[in-house]
Amino acid sequence: MKIIAANFKMNGDKEFIDNWFQNFEADTENLVVVGLPAIYLESSIQNFNKSNFKIAAQNVSKFINPGAYTGQMSSAMLNDVGVEFCIVGHSEAREHLCEDNESVYEKYNCLKSFSITPIVCIGESLEIREANNHLDFISDQIEKFKTAEDKIIFAYEPIWAIGTGLVPTQEQIEEMSSHIKSHFSQQVTVLYGGSVNSKNSSEILNMNNIDGVLVGGASLNAEEFANIAQS
Ligand code: PEP
Repeated sequence: MKIIAANFKMNGDKEFIDNWFQNFEADTENLVVVGLPAIYLESSIQNFNKSNFKIAAQNVSKFINPGAYTGQMSSAMLNDVGVEFCIVGHSEAREHLCEDNESVYEKYNCLKSFSITPIVCIGESLEIREANNHLDFISDQIEKFKTAEDKIIFAYEPIWAIGTGLVPTQEQIEEMSSHIKSHFSQQVTVLYGGSVNSKNSSEILNMNNIDGVLVGGASLNAEEFANIAQS
């Protein structure tokens, strides 16, 4: 069983999301996880959560206790409405919301304490890749997680592959997934994300040490995402 995750980012509205669910039909053993904007989580969970189809949040507060954190949403709140998965550390959140490795790890721990499964995004910029520093950079991003005892899900998403149509070679993806896994004694799941579509998904899902995909742009089309989920 692989994990096929979608990230709608800040796209869609009620009608779009309803239509998407009407049109998404996949006959698959894979676990499908769909990351929606926060405001649509509760109704989507009530209508669509099933055993191998889950709705995910796209971010969460690093603060565990209620308090004066205007605009934020806690792990307790996600748990309250039935959220079981949450993306953290997406490169867009690192860029636009100034998240760093420390805060991503705090979010991971908050989610864990409410039994929500984090999907931790990591990935290097083109500049870092071209300087051949990508392995060290990823080691830094995952450093704090080395003390975590549970199974961890990482989504390796090179920033230069997100929304660009560029996909790393098989060697580059496999090198990175085994590099990530080499830091841990426990089981670690590594998804690949960055310009995945129904044409390249089978090849990516067949790569060594790749346990699933995280799909942005192509997930907005329900038929396209169903094809990825079935690949
Ligand atoms: C993403 O933003 O997580 C992502 C993988 O985007 P895309 O598939 O559009 O490259």
